[in-house]
Amino acid sequence: MSFRTFIDQLKENGKLVEIPVSVSPRFEASRIAKAAKAPVLFHDVSGSKVIMNLLGSRDELASMLGVPKEEIIKRLSEVSPEGEVRLVSESPTLEAIEDEVDLTKLPILTHFEKDGAPYITAGIVVSEYGGTINASIHRLMLAGKDKLAARLVPPRHTYLLYKKAAERGERLPVAIVLGCDPTIIYATSTRVPVGKEFEYAAALRGAPVELFECANGIKVPHAEIVLEGYIDPTEKVDEGPFVDITGTYDVVRKEPVIHITRIIHRKDPIYHGILPAGPEHLLMMGVPYEPRIYRAVGEVTSVRNVVLTEGGCCYLHAVVQIEKQTEGDGKNAIMAAFAAHTSLKHVVVVDEDINIFDPNDVEFAIATRVKGDMDILIVPNVRGSSLDPRGAPDGTTTKVGIDATKVLVEKENFERAIIPEVTE
Ligand code: MN
Repeated sequence: MSFRTFIDQLKENGKLVEIPVSVSPRFEASRIAKAAKAPVLFHDVSGSKVIMNLLGSRDELASMLGVPKEEIIKRLSEVSPEGEVRLVSESPTLEAIEDEVDLTKLPILTHFEKDGAPYITAGIVVSEYGGTINASIHRLMLAGKDKLAARLVPPRHTYLLYKKAAERGERLPVAIVLGCDPTIIYATSTRVPVGKEFEYAAALRGAPVELFECANGIKVPHAEIVLEGYIDPTEKVDEGPFVDITGTYDVVRKEPVIHITRIIHRKDPIYHGILPAGPEHLLMMGVPYEPRIYRAVGEVTSVRNVVLTEGGCCYLHAVVQIEKQTEGDGKNAIMAAFAAHTSLKHVVVVDEDINIFDPNDVEFAIATRVKGDMDILIVPNVRGSSLDPRGAPDGTTTKVGIDATKVLVEKENFERAIIPEVTE
């Protein structure tokens, strides 16, 4: 499925909001996207098309994967990164080639009041060094007509490749992919074994992924826009401030510079923007961890489902649903969940009769099945998330697990009354 096919599908299903009027890339597009709570296609942001909130809900993720919403995690847990990747020589991305690079002609958005500059937020940075390939999304700050500052988090794969090249004084060739098959976008947000992002994407989509070669040798999937260039081994600039998943400002750091040497794109390309701390950002950060928690809990008890909730930034809070077999399973599930996702801060474990997608139902479980002195597990001084504003400077935090499962021997006390259907 191409980026455009997915957008067409959204349109056919009546899910796409279209904005025909001219909209400013500075705050206005972000404000509309934030209010829309649905995929939004802007027809004129500085003369270009822009899509936001593309994968902004679990419904969109489910339709991308071709499964019902409740089975997203099950499906993701089954897939291993072993799909087929094919090298091809033709691509619609080569419809237009621009050797005169001017990034300011792209509708790069400024999202929040104190942002350091306009930011590319949905750019998949594909890099290759010493035979190792990586593909992952990095936030990219506009730092000049042909320059971007990239936040490279150590010890993630792009950072490691950049470091290896820089230690030898060499440039790391990169290609930044904007607007490709959403399963590829999703795959590159997932922590898969080194170099396996496209294989994982192929397995997810159930069809081979086609890559073509850029002028600098980097192989990329068909996309709306591709920025070719290299990461400079020495040059660094101030990067930030920028809003991360908690909706608070991340600090300014010295980060490496990407020089863009050529831009290729489809005719009338659709630029993809991800609203920082918006639902699309949260889901892409969080959902890839759900299968890890699911598998880990599955090792200690019978697991039914897992969700990283949007209220918990899809990162810091999980609800784990189990089919309790023995008393104490809830606590074991808590420990397994913390081990599987080190950034997780609070977790609630519930029974199979609780709708984990409904915060009210989860609260009901806490209200009726929890006794504070028995069912709450507090673990101080453990590694948490660097994105948690309440975490300690050394990265540690206190984790809280809530076992909101029924006491097995008193099961009848917890039975939820139902109104039977009238059968006359
Ligand atoms: Mn990787």
